[in-house]
Amino acid sequence: HIKDSSTDQVAFFNEDMEKRLLRQDKIVKVLREVIEGKDTESFYLEFQPKLDLMKDKIIGFEALARLRIENLGQVAPDEFIALAEEKLLIYDVGNHILLRACDFLKRLQDEGFHETSVAVNISGIQLLREDFVENLQQKLFSSEKVKKPLEFEVTETVLLDHFSQINETLEAIKKMDIAISLDDFGTGYSSFSRLAELHIDTIKIDRFFIDKISHTAEKDLIISDVISMAHKIGLSVVAEGVEDERQKAYLQKYGCDIIQGYLLSKPLPEESAINFLRRYESDLQQ
Ligand code: C2E
Ligand code: MG
Ligand code: MG
Ligand code: MG
Repeated sequence: HIKDSSTDQVAFFNEDMEKRLLRQDKIVKVLREVIEGKDTESFYLEFQPKLDLMKDKIIGFEALARLRIENLGQVAPDEFIALAEEKLLIYDVGNHILLRACDFLKRLQDEGFHETSVAVNISGIQLLREDFVENLQQKLFSSEKVKKPLEFEVTETVLLDHFSQINETLEAIKKMDIAISLDDFGTGYSSFSRLAELHIDTIKIDRFFIDKISHTAEKDLIISDVISMAHKIGLSVVAEGVEDERQKAYLQKYGCDIIQGYLLSKPLPEESAINFLRRYESDLQQ
């Protein structure tokens, strides 16, 4: 009997694909149950602190979505957010994330941290929806569940094809007194002239560039130029993915406003985030 390798390959491919589809079905099912409030275990947020270098103060946290599913373990946000976008669940998932982030803001304020902000990542798909702002104003803000100081992080990629539509939405968001950061800056194609037109407050320089600080001669790094150009057009600068002292020292030297990364802390569960903040504040007083 001669083995037919082509059928073998097909069988292998099918098995692989089936596994992938089963995994996706499971994730989508869990996300639906989360949105409907039937599953309160699998989905949660973690919070990563942001440090203001000038003030040596934790000025806020970024909320990062987490999903842990039985038999699948931890599912990365890059996977389940993309899936939520594909299945058009992102609007409901996004609202859920925003409300959970506001629960954390409430907790911060109950603990006496009234100025600490929370940043929420907003998917481009959410921003592109015509009624994004209306939904915010009518469903969320009027419910008094939404707290401030709140910030939205949006990525550059969505701007490429929809610059003016997105910019109008950003303007409306800013009118609601929500700050806006351009996330993963440098990975897209924003020019500085375009950047000046955008209704944003901050750029977050992507980890890719911060990583370069560790193995590039200082004179060859352009981050310092990016920082000063951003400042010239009135934007503040956050560095994401700061992992070592050398990166921090460089960023401090060139006037980067805020850093975030494992050097300071990984994203933390709510309780640990509050403790981190308390500890940081009390260390300052000593
Ligand atoms: P992002 O918004 O750029 O978030 C930064 C990512 O880098 C996070 O990964 C964070 O855990 C990780 N990170 C932070 N500091 C360091 C560091 O020092 N070193 C390294 N190596 N990594 C660091 P995470 O949590 O896996 O999130 C990945 C992406 O998924 C996020 O990128 C964001 O685009 C998306 N995402 C996460 N949560 C949400 C959400 O609630 N809504 C939406 N729409 N997207 C989300
Ligand atoms: Mg972000
Ligand atoms: Mg980022
Ligand atoms: Mg990034």
